Parts: sequence; structure tokens; C-alpha cells
Amino acid sequence: MKTYEKVDYRKLPMFVGVTGEQWNDWRWQAANVIRDTETLSRVIDLSEDEKAELERCLQRFRMAITPYYAALMDDSHPLCSIRLQSVPSARELLECDADLADPLCEDADSPVPGLTHRYPDRVLFLVTNRCSMYCRHCTRRRLVGFQDRHLTESQLDACIRYIARHPEIRDVLLSGGDPLTLPDVRLESILSRLRAIDHVEIIRIGTRMPVVLPMRITDELVAMLRKYQPIYVNTHFNHYKEITAEAAAACAKLADGGFPLGNQSVLLRDVNDCPRIMKKLVQELLAIRVKPYYLYQCDLSQGIGHFRTSVARGMEIIENLRGHTSGLAVPTFVVDAPGGGGKIPVMPNYLLSYSDKRIILRNYEGDITTYTQPENIYSDCWCELCREDRYESNSILRESTLMSPLA
Ligand SMILES: *Cc1c(COP(=O)(O)O)cnc(C)c1O
Ligand code: SF4
Repeated sequence: MKTYEKVDYRKLPMFVGVTGEQWNDWRWQAANVIRDTETLSRVIDLSEDEKAELERCLQRFRMAITPYYAALMDDSHPLCSIRLQSVPSARELLECDADLADPLCEDADSPVPGLTHRYPDRVLFLVTNRCSMYCRHCTRRRLVGFQDRHLTESQLDACIRYIARHPEIRDVLLSGGDPLTLPDVRLESILSRLRAIDHVEIIRIGTRMPVVLPMRITDELVAMLRKYQPIYVNTHFNHYKEITAEAAAACAKLADGGFPLGNQSVLLRDVNDCPRIMKKLVQELLAIRVKPYYLYQCDLSQGIGHFRTSVARGMEIIENLRGHTSGLAVPTFVVDAPGGGGKIPVMPNYLLSYSDKRIILRNYEGDITTYTQPENIYSDCWCELCREDRYESNSILRESTLMSPLA
């Protein structure tokens, strides 16, 4: 089994005096988040020009980097994948014509503040807009003057009432911000109220804590969450450098707690837009029991244009994964439709030609094969559920629907 290295934070003069106990305490990490140029310049070398650039950027957008994540930076390298994700760049101030303020129309699809109900059977529940770190590529940008807050109790109540009143909702995704910035008791109060709703079958938690603040995954948190199973946890690793001993331990705690783990990466220029980096990332994720779930094309949010890659790049990455490594390691590449159309999967093309008689396919190595279709193609389904449906909607059909065409 592969072992991972612990972050050597004592190599940074700024953290020399920090005890292991402090370092491993998420509260200490949260209290010491790096928010200004002066503090950051004690972690990485910043030239006067870079400091000035940073200052300009901080007049518009905010910065927040956990000490743990900062200690992962490769100080000597301006293209360090950790640095690009966490340190503001003047390129954020450039606007592109395609930029949109709310590219996914999450506000427009919101029946009550805090909820986005776009798909028939599941809702996105934005319980907070607080995060322990501000990722530079975030779709929900952190502007100066913008207040970070959790939903108020009455807003939470309204969201939960909406879910309770809509029996079609069987899946609730807690997101934000990062839901694990909530104190355990507040999170528990949300979970217990959701669990009290019969039609809520599964709960999902989307969190970047295992990546940016792995100490947040404590035994107490896991013990609390276990009371509200089935819960799925989705996290957000973008680069294999983010997989450390601490991150692996956080994921092991969650996996041992019985929560299936998934990962959502965003395709980011110069960070991970390379088939080799992605292959290493997805393989290492499986090794820490995290299943790659989605690979997102970068959204059209303002100030992240410099992270965008072509959609072809994402397809090339999938092409280089499918067949070449464990099928379990292959995420679905999606474009979140601007305007709120939802996630649209984009795939390399394996189907070369299609007719009723035969289809022509290619495999991952480019070999071409033919599959001959069955002769009697019929479109009606005769499974038990479809037969019952037809029976209910039209009793005249009863005789014919109860008989299979093969009988
Ligand atoms: C991504 C998303 C979901 C969940 O989508 P899945 O494909 O089920 O993971 C639900 N609601 C909204 C608004 C989303 O953006
Ligand atoms: S943790 Fe998620 S929501 Fe928070 S800043 Fe990063 S990408 Fe955005």
C-alpha cells in the first residue's frame, strides 16, 4: 500500500513554534487562516511586484488560505498547483465577454433562499456560504464587502419545510460554502430534521475539508454523522499533491465511518489540465477510497477566465483514462450548462455508426468492431413496472400488456 507524507510545516519559519497539537487542531487552523499579503509573504517568497499585484487583487476579491494548505505550496514555483488554487492573481481582475455573475442560475431556480431545486428528485441545499479557504477557481466568488454567513435559523426552517412538503425529493445535497464550517451541533440539527422526513432517502455532503483542512474530520464528527446514514460525502481534490498523509487519514476516517466517498474535480488550466496529472490523481484517489465522480468544465463565473481550458482537453483526459486504467477511476466529464440547464456529460465518441442492423464501435486502442443488433427490435418495455403503469393508466390495455411479445 502506498503511504503518504505528512506536511512538514516546521520548514516554514512562520510555523516553527507551532506545536503538533495546535497544528492538528482544526480550530487552530481556522483561527490562523492567511488573509493578507504580509502574512502570506512569510510563507512564500513574494517579490515587491507580486505583493503589489496581490494588493490590487485584494481590493476586489478576498483571500483565505489555511496554514495546512499553505504549507503544501512549493515556494520556489510560481506555477505550483497549490499556489494557483489559493493565491490571488491579477488575472482575476480581467473580465471576459462570456463571464456571468450567476452562471448556473442557482438563484433563479431557487424556491426559497438556500435551496436550488433544478432536478425532479433532488435539491441542492446551500446551508452556509462560509468556507475555510477561498479557492481561486470557485464558482461562487468571494467578493470584498460580501458577508460570509450561515443560513439563519428561520431560513433553514423554510428550506426544511419546503423539502418536507415535496415528497418527490429523495436526495438532499448539503453544500455551500462548505457545510463542515458549521459547528457539529448545528449540522446535527439540520441532519436530524432531514432524517425525520420519510421521503428523504439519501443525504449528500459536499465538502472540501479533506483537502484544505483535513483536521476538521474528527472522530466526534464521524460519530455524529453516523447517526444519520445513509450519507454520501463528496470532496474536491484537483491535484495529486493534495493527497497527503493528513488528507488520506481524513478520508480513511470517513470511509471507515461507512460513508461512500466521491470526488468532484474542476479542470483548471496549468493546475490539472493534463492527462498524466489526471491519471495519477484518479488512481491515487482510489487508493484512499475516494471514487472519482465528476470532472467539471470550469464555469463562466467572473474572474476565473484564466483557469478555463477547452472542452476538448477534458475529452482528451477521459480518452486517456477509459480503458487505460480501472473503470472505477474514470469520472464523468460534465459541462454545467450556463443558464441553469444542469450538468451535461461530454464523452469521447466510441460509437462510429449506428443502424437498426448493426453498430460500429471503436475501443480505447482505436480498434474497430461491429456489433450486430437483434432482429426483432421493439420499443415497448414489458417489465413488471411498465406493465403495471400501463395497466393503471388504461384498463383496456390490460389484456395486451400482461402478455409479453415473446410469450
Ligand atoms: C449538481 C447538482 C445536483 C446533483 O447532481 P447529481 O448529478 O445528482 O450529482 C443537484 N442539484 C443541483 C442544482 C446541482 O447543481
Ligand atoms: S471550498 Fe468549494 S465553495 Fe469553498 S471556495 Fe473552495 S470551491 Fe468554493
